[in-house]
Amino acid sequence: MSLPIRARLTLWYVGLLAAIVVVVGAFLLVRLQAGLVAGVDQNLDDRANEVAADLQGGDQVFESLTSSSLRALPRGAFAAQVVSAGGDVLSSTGDPTARQPMIDPRVREVVLRRGPVRFTGRLGPERARFRVLAVRFQQDRATSVLVVARSLVDVDESVRRLRLLLLVAVPVALAGAGGGGWLLARKALLPVARMTRQAEVISADRLQRRIALPRARDELGRLAETLNAMLDRIEREVQDQQRLVADASHELRTPLAVMRSEIDVWLRSPSLPEQAREALESVGEEVERTSRILDNLLTLARIDVGRLGLLCAPRQLDELVAEVLGKLRPIARAKRIALEVDGDAAEVLADGPRLEQVITNLVDNAIKYTSPGGTVRVLLWRGRDEAGMTVSDTGPGISPEALPHLFDRFYRADAARSRSQGGSGLGLAICKEIVTAHGGRLWAASRLGAGSAFSLAMPVAGDPGRVAPAGPAGGP
Ligand code: ADP
Repeated sequence: MSLPIRARLTLWYVGLLAAIVVVVGAFLLVRLQAGLVAGVDQNLDDRANEVAADLQGGDQVFESLTSSSLRALPRGAFAAQVVSAGGDVLSSTGDPTARQPMIDPRVREVVLRRGPVRFTGRLGPERARFRVLAVRFQQDRATSVLVVARSLVDVDESVRRLRLLLLVAVPVALAGAGGGGWLLARKALLPVARMTRQAEVISADRLQRRIALPRARDELGRLAETLNAMLDRIEREVQDQQRLVADASHELRTPLAVMRSEIDVWLRSPSLPEQAREALESVGEEVERTSRILDNLLTLARIDVGRLGLLCAPRQLDELVAEVLGKLRPIARAKRIALEVDGDAAEVLADGPRLEQVITNLVDNAIKYTSPGGTVRVLLWRGRDEAGMTVSDTGPGISPEALPHLFDRFYRADAARSRSQGGSGLGLAICKEIVTAHGGRLWAASRLGAGSAFSLAMPVAGDPGRVAPAGPAGGP
């Protein structure tokens, strides 16, 4: 699973913060407990000295204990015992001890032989946690062990409270930090999102666009500069290529024209053997096809370098259509295809020869791809600020997968059929460019087996709200 950068940044941020807080929290808990226990130990030292002094002075050990300043301690919080060297409890105070010795024989041995021992253990019937100090105690030549113990209830309570506070406060703080991190990541990535949007609209036919440089001269600023420098290079290379195609197709037209006229001269010769005639006719067709492709390439190259040079003027669309149909009628008749025209007259703002080229291409395609006996119909229509025509046929139709690519360069929906018809896949791409350059629209609708309909919409002449641009423009 690949999460967006924004989510990943936030997760990393919250994860890192959680790790730091957990380590710091654990350290605090350990330090707090150690500090409090050290305080208890200090307190036990003082108490042991006090009790020892009291015991030295009095004869009743137990009374001395209970009457000493220890009484001020909360009940059950403190316990003291005097244990004989043999392990008997000589006197005792404090609840948890009862009459059981608070230290086991091993501890007693260590105290008698080596000195004071401190430890934390569970004492009394409730097995409460106590901090214990056992020291050697000498009285009247008898050696015993003085044991003082203090409950760790208050220490444990303080630690518990801090733990609880951390358990509640940390998730809340992390949630807050997560929200803040999410917003920060969004803010930090906003320029990236803007650059992505700008880069998305840069395509081969809009190569002159550039990514706006962010105000800050930071990493993103440098990225935008790098991308723009890359676009400069690509634009230069594409322009070089377009110029090459334009020059090459221009240069190749002349020799092809010479070949064509020479073939025509030879074909007119009555002495030409039949086999040579057939070969020449076939070569002539190929030369014709190559010239058409070259013409198309030249037109596209001119469109690409913005040298289409449209001369727009009010033109009668119905008259242009009638002219085109007149030229194509013999081809339709030869294929036994009915050519029909219907609709209203309309005046559009267009470059006459270029618009004628578009209409010819659409009607020619309809005739080309319709089987003998079919019908090609041209319907003229007029809208509020545009007028146009729809060329429909009873041909094979176009598949839904092919439909979106029809206007791409060199695209042929059915390559075999198109090639057999002399097609190169450039006609519709050129039509689209020409129509778009006029500020018009060109689109197709079709269903497999149910014929196709190609529609053209052009700005009407005399529409003040609409001025046809002279150069190529982007898609609708
Ligand atoms: P071509 O020179 O191959 O005809 P076009 O650009 O004019 O190139 O058309 C592109 C493709 O669109 C054609 O190869 C063909 O498959 C499909 N096409 C165009 N017009 C029609 C139509 N009227 N009926 C069916 N298919 C069509």
